[in-house]
Amino acid sequence: MRISLLAVLLCSLAAAAPERVLIIDGQNNHEWQVTTPLLKKALENTKLFRVDVATSPAKGADMTAFHPDLKQYAVIVSNYSDYGGGGVWSTALQKDCEAYVNNGGGFVTVHAADNAFPQCKEFNLMIGVGGWQGRTEKDGPMLRWRDGKIVRDMTPGKGGHHGRRHEDAATTHVKNHPIKKGLPDAWLHTEDELYDALRSPAENVTVLATAFADKATGGTGEHEPALMTIAYGKGRVFHTILCHHALAMQCVGFITTFQRGTEWAATGKVTQKAPADFPSPTQVSLRK
Ligand code: ZN
Repeated sequence: MRISLLAVLLCSLAAAAPERVLIIDGQNNHEWQVTTPLLKKALENTKLFRVDVATSPAKGADMTAFHPDLKQYAVIVSNYSDYGGGGVWSTALQKDCEAYVNNGGGFVTVHAADNAFPQCKEFNLMIGVGGWQGRTEKDGPMLRWRDGKIVRDMTPGKGGHHGRRHEDAATTHVKNHPIKKGLPDAWLHTEDELYDALRSPAENVTVLATAFADKATGGTGEHEPALMTIAYGKGRVFHTILCHHALAMQCVGFITTFQRGTEWAATGKVTQKAPADFPSPTQVSLRK
């Protein structure tokens, strides 16, 4: 009896073992020193994850020795960008990351992390679309929601832009996806940079939600991809364009989709319930 009870206890403990997450930061033209602890806390608050952080050498320092052991983790969250002359990951780390995701590892890219590494073909396949750092039509199409569907827009021009910071409404297009299940179809996100005109290979991308980049706030006048999933080999990638700064990380819409997107990237499932304080289509909801 005692042994079987112990076995049950051990089984339940094993079932509850948290997924291991690695956040990579260290360089970014955004305040990664402020946002990484908030990302870590958001994940730890779910009790589903055990989170480590790998911080690269500072901009300008030798990157050769920076090589976290990715295979220990169920999912990698990138809060890293080489925008503005920062360090590109070593070829060995890039190859390792490609193999890791290709073999079924999860990858999450947050806001400016999609500015990184325009010259790395596999990284761009992994993130679907990216911005800045010389990206143009040579890198691939923009993705736009027009007339009820996503279209590939090959209009020449720079990849990556945003208007003035403002509140924007995210609209769901893939309602039955585990990341979006049970959440309102539209919700108002707090004041943030709304990326537009991102472009890269845009292959195997599912656009879960778009946000309208109003010309009135300096945007493109297009419904731009805001939340995406990308299939890369056997791996799952979750791409959120949201969250320029700490304020945007208080948005329950960001927190929830980030927590769910990370769980999905790690396991292919989402076990988290929709929170009671999720924003409505017209009302922002913040956790301070
Ligand atoms: Zn930004």
